[in-house]
Amino acid sequence: MTENIDVLIIGGGPAGLAAAVKLWDRGFHSLLILEREKQLGGILRQCIHDGFGLTRFGTTLSGPEYAQRFIDEVREREIPFLTNAAVINIAPDKCVTAATRDGLRKWRAKAVVLAMGCRERTRGALAIPGERPAGVFTAGVAQAYMNLYNRMPAREVVILGSGDIGMIMARRLTLEGAHVQAVFEVLPYPSGLPRNIEQCLNDYNIPLFLSHTVTNIHGSARLTGVTVSEVDSRMKPIPGTEKEYACDTLILSVGLIPENELSLDAGVTLDGRTRGAEVDEFFQTSVPGIFSAGNVLHVHDLVDFVSLEAEALAEGCARYLSTGLPGCTLNIVSDKTVNHTVPMRVSGTQNIALSLRPSRPFRDCRIVVKQEGTEVASKKMKKAIPAEMIQMTIPASKLSGKGDILVSIEAVQTGEETAHRASAGTGASCPSEGD
Ligand SMILES: Cc1cc2nc3c(=O)[nH]c(=O)nc-3n(C[C@H](O)[C@H](O)[C@H](O)COP(=O)(O)OP(=O)(O)OC[C@H]3O[C@@H](n4cnc5c(N)ncnc54)[C@H](O)[C@@H]3O)c2cc1C
Repeated sequence: MTENIDVLIIGGGPAGLAAAVKLWDRGFHSLLILEREKQLGGILRQCIHDGFGLTRFGTTLSGPEYAQRFIDEVREREIPFLTNAAVINIAPDKCVTAATRDGLRKWRAKAVVLAMGCRERTRGALAIPGERPAGVFTAGVAQAYMNLYNRMPAREVVILGSGDIGMIMARRLTLEGAHVQAVFEVLPYPSGLPRNIEQCLNDYNIPLFLSHTVTNIHGSARLTGVTVSEVDSRMKPIPGTEKEYACDTLILSVGLIPENELSLDAGVTLDGRTRGAEVDEFFQTSVPGIFSAGNVLHVHDLVDFVSLEAEALAEGCARYLSTGLPGCTLNIVSDKTVNHTVPMRVSGTQNIALSLRPSRPFRDCRIVVKQEGTEVASKKMKKAIPAEMIQMTIPASKLSGKGDILVSIEAVQTGEETAHRASAGTGASCPSEGD
């Protein structure tokens, strides 16, 4: 039997919970959150370090504390949710099928909110040559072992990738008695936040080697070591630079991939750069009535922005259900200085909250937004780095009804030169520190 409902929210992490609370407060009570895990909260359940909530709540919280604030709001309002409910299909007509404790269940929704988060890139995706021993984990898996299941997975550790989760795990493993030898990053600059480099690596004397990667994995039953090589400017290993590191664990922190298999089933168009849905300013995807926010839309560094984005989505979704949404015919495009922008299409009828990431580090730069050659918004920045999402507003009053909106970064000086200097590996130095 197919049940009818106004809004189905897929994923009970920070994005799904914030969207549900906002929609409820706007008077939409025919809604349901579907979560495949046994508890609400998303990935934050395993992030027991602090640093969450500074923007949203003005105080620093641990991941479970931040999630609990939203779970409490859901419970206070008695918003319906179903855990142990894995959505297995979304049809383009917004018919959703989930595997639940009561068997397969189906809903036909007026609107669907995609809030499925993302998963980690694995060894398979990197194609590192070598043996296939135990002891190669993604940072999130190691984090789950330690923080959710109270298991110590490592003693001698090498970390590949300077993503935030890897650096947080470098500190966590050190505090639990493991020895973290080094973090190796293939790029000439770190991919995680400066605050994590400072607090998780520098504070514990863990060196960060930029422009380095793991080129071989050794061991049969358990990992016995890895080979690390320097890479050239095209990220190709340089022959003769190989160095062996004896270790029992290799932690991978090499990127997150938005979980969009269900979105593709629903006919949603994905953006090649974000690997999330192409959305307009209301967070509506290419399929009318299907919305997307949070890490499934684009990878965020701070959960506070996930919650704010999901609340903006809820406003758009509420408007879709009540009056309908205006057409969004103005495209936002960028040049090679910008990795991506969200949204990708706008109506020009209201101010736009633009999120973007630079494609490389910049210092003393300006984010410039132009339409038909005329500057419509700009933001001066002392530094802009790929690890930090930038947010700015484009005022509707400056936009005309036609012509692409071009976003670019005008640099005075790039940070790459400094980044290359840090690759000597004498310590956990970072080009964006100390500004
Ligand atoms: C290890 C780690 C450390 C982090 N550290 C920080 C930090 O220090 N500070 C900070 O601000 N941010 C941090 N973040 C980022 C922050 O946690 C994320 O930005 C945030 O959790 C994203 O929220 P989300 O709701 O989009 O996704 P998630 O939290 O991933 O939630 C998605 C939910 O959807 C569910 N789901 C997926 N597919 C389905 C399906 N088919 N059916 C039903 N349910 C489904 C999942 O089970 C999950 O519960 C960290 C992230 C990670 C991974």
